[in-house]
Amino acid sequence: MRADQAYDELMRRVREETILTTVEALLEWDEETYMPSGGVENRSEQLAMLAGLLHERGTDPRLGDLLASVEASALLADEASPVAVNVRALRREYDRFVRLPRALVEEIARTTALAQKAWTSAYGAADFMRFRPWLERIVDLKRAEADCVGYVDEPYDALLEDYEPGLRSAVVARLFGALRRELVPLAERIAGAPRRPDSSALRRHFPRDRQRRFGEAVAAAVGFDFRRGRMDLGGHPSCTGIGLGDCRITLRYHDRDFPGGLFTILHEVGHGLYEQGLDPKHYGTPLGETASVGMDEAQARFWENRVGRSHGFWEHFYPRARELFPESLGDVPLDEFHFAANRVAPSLVRVHADEVTYNLHVMIRFDLERALVSGALAVADLPEAWRAAYRDSLGVTPRTDAEGCLQDGHWSDALIGYFPTYTLGDVFAAQLYTCAERELGGLGEQFARGEFAPLVQWLERRVYRAGGRHPSARLIEVVTGSPPDHRPLVSVLREKYEALYGI
Ligand code: ZN
Repeated sequence: MRADQAYDELMRRVREETILTTVEALLEWDEETYMPSGGVENRSEQLAMLAGLLHERGTDPRLGDLLASVEASALLADEASPVAVNVRALRREYDRFVRLPRALVEEIARTTALAQKAWTSAYGAADFMRFRPWLERIVDLKRAEADCVGYVDEPYDALLEDYEPGLRSAVVARLFGALRRELVPLAERIAGAPRRPDSSALRRHFPRDRQRRFGEAVAAAVGFDFRRGRMDLGGHPSCTGIGLGDCRITLRYHDRDFPGGLFTILHEVGHGLYEQGLDPKHYGTPLGETASVGMDEAQARFWENRVGRSHGFWEHFYPRARELFPESLGDVPLDEFHFAANRVAPSLVRVHADEVTYNLHVMIRFDLERALVSGALAVADLPEAWRAAYRDSLGVTPRTDAEGCLQDGHWSDALIGYFPTYTLGDVFAAQLYTCAERELGGLGEQFARGEFAPLVQWLERRVYRAGGRHPSARLIEVVTGSPPDHRPLVSVLREKYEALYGI
């Protein structure tokens, strides 16, 4: 077989698999938005069948032959060439995939569809016992997955690898430890600060239809392309690529949480900008994909926190917000609103956390799921371990498991190994922001003038178009000149909150 023909066939197959993956994504999007609850059994069968089909194609020995014949050729001579990048990524995926038995893959897909239903019911009733057998099953299945895939240090590494190729749990633990040592004292200093925001105005009534209008206008203004994407109401906020030119965002609004809703929109728009900014030339191949889940999350946290929670952003958008919500914001000056929207206080629920304490929530999940997977923590003991961790890290204790270990749907979705990507994303986002500020200068002033295009273009050039060329840790180093580093995040948070709180 000629190597160039082998590569062409490889690319054709990979693009077909991308089509199947996007069909799967569309079914999941529909489940989140419009599917009636009676459809759940049928949907779990559809998803299980697709997972099986993807597995069958992804483990086809023909793929192994094609990879081997390209690998043995001169096509890989240049390590940075598109061929070399794609073949490296596909080899890694193939080797992982062939180690997973089809029965296990299908069982995970089937179980998670049903476990999500069980979790919804358990969450609604704040009754962990309803979810416990499902979580036990999921932890067993994920441990089986780790054993099949293989690992060097601990089974959690094999699960993390699925989201952050090349990153080890021990490295993440060190990075998180360093960040925790800075965040805890910062949160404590803020708690003892002389100045406090008055956030009562933010709990006034903000009609949802007007929030939606405002959110869509902001999304379009920062660069989200509605001809190639849409927004719908969904169970939990998400952004899903359905293919070139079709990016779906799901959202939810609360009458009495206007800034929270807007930050969520910006978060998902950050994912959407990345998705829409990928190189269409390489669509369907690793080079045209996001670098990792953590790098994807970095784009989201960038727009949510570095842009959305900034003073400059509100200098531009606050007058419009006041026009839309005159009865709630008419008597609230910009500075007061901005301070209130950046209020820091330890809380129980991650998705509502401020940006200083947010990462402490993520670290708790990381520690707990690492212990669940290693077997050091039994599922039965999770609620108590959760309460203890919240007491220790944040000084708050959930009254019910709905406020505690049932608050996220991640584990019902078998997303174990995923949580660390949230904090990695925040760390990367601050590194990117610091670098963009150094290179572009005056970002805050640009936001205040409503200019977001230079920043989007910078991100597109440096991050979006690079696609899967590098693993995330390498990409961050290529772009910013520094490997993953918690210090830029600590600096931006310190600078911002010391000024706001007068500490
Ligand atoms: Zn996200």
